Amino acid sequence: MVACLYNPLFLEHGQPWHPESAERFEVVVDRLQNTGLWDRLQHLDFGPATVEQIGWVHQPYYIEYLRDLCAAGGGALDADTYATEQTYEVAMLAAGASITAAEALMRGQVDAAFCLVRPPGHHAGTDQARGFCFFNNVAVAAEAALHFGATRVAIVDFDAHHGNGTQEIFYHRGDVLYISLHQSPYYPGTGTVDEVGVDEGAGSTINIPLPAESRDEHYRRAWEELIVPALKAFGPDIILISAGYDAHWKDPLTGLSLTAVGFYEMVKMAQESAQQTCQGRLGLILEGGYHLEALPLSVENTFLALLGEPIRQPDESPPPLHPAQAERINQYLDYAITTHRRRLKLE
Ligand SMILES: [Zn+2]
Repeated sequence: MVACLYNPLFLEHGQPWHPESAERFEVVVDRLQNTGLWDRLQHLDFGPATVEQIGWVHQPYYIEYLRDLCAAGGGALDADTYATEQTYEVAMLAAGASITAAEALMRGQVDAAFCLVRPPGHHAGTDQARGFCFFNNVAVAAEAALHFGATRVAIVDFDAHHGNGTQEIFYHRGDVLYISLHQSPYYPGTGTVDEVGVDEGAGSTINIPLPAESRDEHYRRAWEELIVPALKAFGPDIILISAGYDAHWKDPLTGLSLTAVGFYEMVKMAQESAQQTCQGRLGLILEGGYHLEALPLSVENTFLALLGEPIRQPDESPPPLHPAQAERINQYLDYAITTHRRRLKLE
């Protein structure tokens, strides 16, 4: 059974001019309904996270600050992260969906779960909203999984941006593995190969920075040669995916060149890893994705992969890759794969 966690309240945060808009969700839900997929999913009920649950990963003073800011009508938290009067309530509900998904997976009630939530979360640090993110949904989900019986959690983040908040929250922890594929150099500027964690967490952070125009085949190589073996070596009880779709070549915010087929392949590989390591427990939480045709197609492909069905609609290919850029991408990939494999003794 594949679960979907969605609530119309997720449309109530944000401004129409912002790329992280409610319209992103309208087109996704429309597509899932029009293709008949919506009725094939198990729609789980959920409520907002509690302050105590958000406190698993965020400082109390930050939670209070955001609550009070929203109660007073909202305001800017950084250059492109703006809270409205509704943001606190909506962000609490997004985190609540992530907790319900983690619980349902740990209890074996569903095989896979995809949280269609906003605002996104992976840039949110312990006491800071950043990059459209307020509460770190995937980090809260990881803590929820630990609460409901997991001893080790793996997070794979394929959003085009580095999940600096998630990395920061678990940087010193050995029970949560964080793996990120992201465009580099790019916002937020973190996520180098040598950021590997500290103290108990030394070795539990794996960054795979990739140059602009990296394509499906480069991501496939990173999964086959590094991510899949690293997940197997770590032995998680659940795999969580920070599922951002802004690495699509049409996305207006980034320069990566994936297609919706690439997302389908990644979800398949994540599902196979989950079946091999943790009885198939796979939870996905939406992060970015700003192209209003690429996003719904990519989300559709994600559900098709989870349901074990073939792709229905082919995607257009990105423009051809210049040989010099292809060489540069392969150099980045070779370096990341070789360095991490040696460090993690995956030979
Ligand atoms: Zn992103």
